[in-house]
Amino acid sequence: MFEKILIANRGEIALRIQRACREMGIHTVAVHSTADADAMHVRLADESVCIGPPSATHSYLNVPALITACELTGAQAIHPGYGFLSENAAFAQIVTEHDITFIGPTADHITMMGDKITAKDAMKRLGVPVVPGSDGEITEDAVALRVADEIGYPVLVKASAGGGGRGMKLARSAGELPNALSTARSEAGAAFGSTAVYLEKYLGKPRHIEIQVMADSHGNVVHLGERDCSLQRRNQKVLEEAPSPILKPEERAEIGERCSKALAELGYLGAGTVEFLYEDGGFYFIEMNTRLQVEHPVTEMVYGVDLVREQIRVAAGMPLSFKQEDLVPNGHAIECRINAENPRTFTPSPGTIQSYHAPGGLGVRMDSGIYSGYRIPPYYDSLIGKLIAHGRDRDECVMRVRRALGETVIEGVDTTLPLFRELLEEKDFLTGNYDIHWLEHWIDEINGEG
Ligand code: ADP
Repeated sequence: MFEKILIANRGEIALRIQRACREMGIHTVAVHSTADADAMHVRLADESVCIGPPSATHSYLNVPALITACELTGAQAIHPGYGFLSENAAFAQIVTEHDITFIGPTADHITMMGDKITAKDAMKRLGVPVVPGSDGEITEDAVALRVADEIGYPVLVKASAGGGGRGMKLARSAGELPNALSTARSEAGAAFGSTAVYLEKYLGKPRHIEIQVMADSHGNVVHLGERDCSLQRRNQKVLEEAPSPILKPEERAEIGERCSKALAELGYLGAGTVEFLYEDGGFYFIEMNTRLQVEHPVTEMVYGVDLVREQIRVAAGMPLSFKQEDLVPNGHAIECRINAENPRTFTPSPGTIQSYHAPGGLGVRMDSGIYSGYRIPPYYDSLIGKLIAHGRDRDECVMRVRRALGETVIEGVDTTLPLFRELLEEKDFLTGNYDIHWLEHWIDEINGEG
């Protein structure tokens, strides 16, 4: 097992990884930009290294600085968290070449899944159901028009290198398609450096359901059920829950086994999430994330496992500490992503937290690096905490989230807490009756624009 791990991230996820390390008796090295010198992930680490100025490009994405930090401190492995370099195949490769263990899958698997066209091809070949669409990249408008005719409008033009909900254009009819293709291509070229696009059937009212998978280097692959992440704003997840309020146990077992089988065939290592749209009883693969997800805690609460601990174990060559038959879901969990943003306009609200009181009690977990007096820097993501609650069933879980939201105090900056307090009272949420578009409509409505 590793004696020392460098955590190439910041904020709540850096702390989350530190916690797992500490419980395993592993020393931690934090890295930080000059803007994060006072951050909790730095204060609580065994050692810390400043890796550059505030801008992420020069600090958290600064590969030479990270490698040097490992060499200076003697860290034997790097955990990349999510975001930043977590899905950067070149980084995984460089780390490995320096005889440091990258806690994640191989660079080849990151590359394969990082490109949506090759990911979709691979999954289709491995027997995972995908969204109907073009066979790979679309380079000619005539081909796009023919494919769209076959699958039926509306269609979505998607950038193969897209991510974070960006790089998608909708075409409702043949008249709109050429324009959608050219804007998608030029936007993708500018944002991701690749103009490759493909076509997909646009699903009208799907849910976003994703399967958590874990694999070790001994041929064991298991799935830990699903998370329902349908509550999104601008294709960004806002609230996640496990299990999905609408999935039947046999559907879970079926799709979970298919994902496990596919990743076993690939020889995948570590944690992975296979994302699907789900409509009228059918699953349609959209993409795979080759890293730990923001919303992983809901799975941990329902299955009673520590996913980061498993990531570290399998990276060190150890077997998974559970088998598929040990993984029995228990109760229900919900996560609210607390952002330092105006709850109505969603404008970021950096600044100093005047006072902070965390929620607690049975079944409540708050993953956050904030404290009274902490200054939220304006340079990074606005996520400042995740409030997660577990209950014996969904109703109990909802009551517990409400109770925990009521206890939470964050003063000095705007947060999305008021939004969740309202959302948790909403009838459609309470009955589980929502698709991926529901939240945006609801937000428009409460803002008086509906
Ligand atoms: P990204 O990598 O940018 O997150 P995804 O392919 O995961 O892109 O899609 C993000 C979101 O966009 C999905 O959760 C869903 O809300 C929407 N979306 C993607 N593909 C489709 C589709 N074929 N039909 C309808 N909505 C889609």
